[in-house]
Amino acid sequence: MKEEKKMSYQRPKGTNDILPGEVEKWQFIEETARLLFNDYQYQEIRTPMFEHIEVITRSVGGTSDIVTKEMYDFYDKGERHITLRPEGTAPVVRSFVENKLFGPEYTKPYKVYYTGPMFRYERPQKGRLRQFHQIGVEAFGSENPATDVETMMMAMDFFEQLGMKQFHLVINSLGDLETRQNYRQALIDYLTPHQEKLSEDSQRRLNENPLRVLDSKDKGDKAVVANAPSILDYLSEPAKKHFDEVVAMLDALEVPYQIDHNMVRGLDYYTHTIFEIMSDAQGMGAQNTICAGGRYNQLVAELGGPETPGFGFALGIERVLLVLEAEAVLIPTGNPLDAYVVNLGEAVNIEALKLVQSIRHAGFSADRDVLNRKAKGQFKTADKLNATLVLTIGESELEAGMVNVKAMATRKEIQVPLTEIYTNFSAVYDELTKEEDK
Ligand code: ATP
Ligand code: MG
Repeated sequence: MKEEKKMSYQRPKGTNDILPGEVEKWQFIEETARLLFNDYQYQEIRTPMFEHIEVITRSVGGTSDIVTKEMYDFYDKGERHITLRPEGTAPVVRSFVENKLFGPEYTKPYKVYYTGPMFRYERPQKGRLRQFHQIGVEAFGSENPATDVETMMMAMDFFEQLGMKQFHLVINSLGDLETRQNYRQALIDYLTPHQEKLSEDSQRRLNENPLRVLDSKDKGDKAVVANAPSILDYLSEPAKKHFDEVVAMLDALEVPYQIDHNMVRGLDYYTHTIFEIMSDAQGMGAQNTICAGGRYNQLVAELGGPETPGFGFALGIERVLLVLEAEAVLIPTGNPLDAYVVNLGEAVNIEALKLVQSIRHAGFSADRDVLNRKAKGQFKTADKLNATLVLTIGESELEAGMVNVKAMATRKEIQVPLTEIYTNFSAVYDELTKEEDK
């Protein structure tokens, strides 16, 4: 029997409201990414939240979990088959091709980053949501293994800059077409005798796309896969050369890494280098992959562009936040308030308005009471907001053309002409906040 659907004024399952108090952490993460990625000469790109479904199916692959189970797809009023984007690479590649960003007027490699929500119909749990957020990057036009390495390093730098300590890099190679053809057969030969032990999904995938079996999270599958042949033994000569160079460069930079020859990633578009950055922080469970990516040399051509190699990664902001919490990293937060205007009596309502506007226009943050509260309540609010200065104005001050200004840290208090506030607030601010040179 179908469960009766309740009318609901709650947020959809697997989504979050990001409220003030929490959103400052998001801003810190996004700002850190922006600054760092600029150092690596990446520019921001913004693509739509939804795409024609074939952009995703063609890129991510018809046997991937994303396409078979997790798409938020629908037909719009014009009968177009649309999906909310489940990931960022396919849309960016679509945009790269559509806007001809491979043209001679653009710098090569063409390097972009994005940030925003992604949508996947998953079973929600810690670190796994239906609307989650990624920061990702894509570099188009370089086959050089140095691009693989510097992009992976950018991700590592990012986590370091956030203050994370417990994470490690895992790499593998999926080689080229020749590699995959050879390996595919070896894998089928290995898996077939174990067929009955595999999960239903994996049995189906065995012949469609045996590499997918390696990516299974099923316990039984994992046991079988543990002894599977290594793709690294099947690398074609050019694929081996590429991977060896990546490894040599990581060594040259003295970056620690692990090689996991069973790592394949959940998306079909990867070739050559793939990588994950895993957190070692307590309590992340199976959601300990915080960043994942790799090389995709066929994808641009696959979506109708000229043969163009690519390399990119995506990291999950919610998981990063969980890790920061698990590692007890303090994130700078706060929205400092320079001045709070305590105003007493309706007669000063307009003057208080003029005061906050004038202070704001002088480049400071300011707020005031608008609820006509008693002095005590207003001072309490100023305290709660951690205001640097409190200006107090009542009817008698207004008559005298003066305002009382108090520095909350030092309790120093002075009377200042209103005109001084209107013409030179920053001098008043400086006067009251310089404390050391007494
Ligand atoms: P997983 O194996 O955990 O399902 P994935 O292989 O599907 O991850 P990618 O598609 O490579 O992940 O996405 C890159 C990153 O985005 C992941 O490493 C993770 O940090 C984050 N991510 C992916 N799916 C989710 C989700 N449903 N909720 C929150 N974060 C996610
Ligand atoms: Mg997944």
